[in-house]
Amino acid sequence: MRKPMIAGNWKMNKTRDEAINFTLGVANGLPLNVECVVCAPFIILRDLVKRAPKNLKIGAQNMDYHESGAFTGEISPIMLQDTGVEYVIIGHSERRSYYNETDESVNLKVKKALEFNLKPIVCVGEVLEERESGKTEEVLAKQVRLGFEGVKLDEPANLVVAYEPVWAIGTGKNATSQTAQDACKFIRGELAKIFGQSKADEIRILYGGSVKPENIKEYMANEDVDGALVGGASLKVDSFLALCNYKN
Ligand code: PEP
Repeated sequence: MRKPMIAGNWKMNKTRDEAINFTLGVANGLPLNVECVVCAPFIILRDLVKRAPKNLKIGAQNMDYHESGAFTGEISPIMLQDTGVEYVIIGHSERRSYYNETDESVNLKVKKALEFNLKPIVCVGEVLEERESGKTEEVLAKQVRLGFEGVKLDEPANLVVAYEPVWAIGTGKNATSQTAQDACKFIRGELAKIFGQSKADEIRILYGGSVKPENIKEYMANEDVDGALVGGASLKVDSFLALCNYKN
C-alpha cells in the first residue's frame, strides 16, 4: 500500500543544460510502479518541472519557513509552490551540520511545507559517535519527536521520512540492510506515537546513505524500508534508471 520511492538528491550539482539532458536521458526508462523524484538546485527547478517526463517528480533541497520578507538569499514555500515542485527535502544532515539547522527549524519548515501543499522529505539520522555509543534510538526518537511536534497530518502519504545515518552519506560505507530495517521500523514506531499507528503505516520511510544499483534490492526487500534517498548515484542517467528499476 505504500508506493516505493526513489528520490535523488543532486545537492550542488548540475547546470541547467545538464539537468535538461538528464530528463531527456531518463524519459523513456522510468517505471510507473515506483515514484521517481529528483531534488535539484533552486535555480533549475522551474525548467525541470516544465520538462520532466510525467513519471519524474521534482523536489527542492531546502526552503525557509518564512513566507516572505528580509531573509537575504532564502527561498520561501510560496516561491517553491510557484515553481510547481511537489517535494522538498527538509533537515538534510548537510544542512544540519553546515548551516546550523535544528530540530526546531525542521519542525517549522515541515509545518510550512504542508501548509503550502509541498510534500516534505524529512531527514533524520545519527552520527558515527552516537551509533558507537549506543545512542542511535535516543537520537532518532528526539529528531522525530521535535521535528513533528504539533504537525497536523491530514494526508500521511504526503509525508516522507528519510533515515540517513550521517556516517553512511557520501562515504561508500552503507548501512547493512538489517541496520536500515531496524532504524526504519523504530522510526515508524515513533511516528505512531505522534500520528497514530494507521497514519504511521502510510508514511513512507526511505533509507539513505551510499545506495547504489548494486545494493538497492537488499534495502527494498525490508518491510519498513519504502525507498531510498540517493546522492551520488542519482547524478548519472544509467545509475538513476537502474535504481528506479530495481524491481526488474
Ligand atoms: C544524500 O545526500 O542524501 C545521500 C544519501 O548521499 P549518498 O547517496 O551519496 O550517500
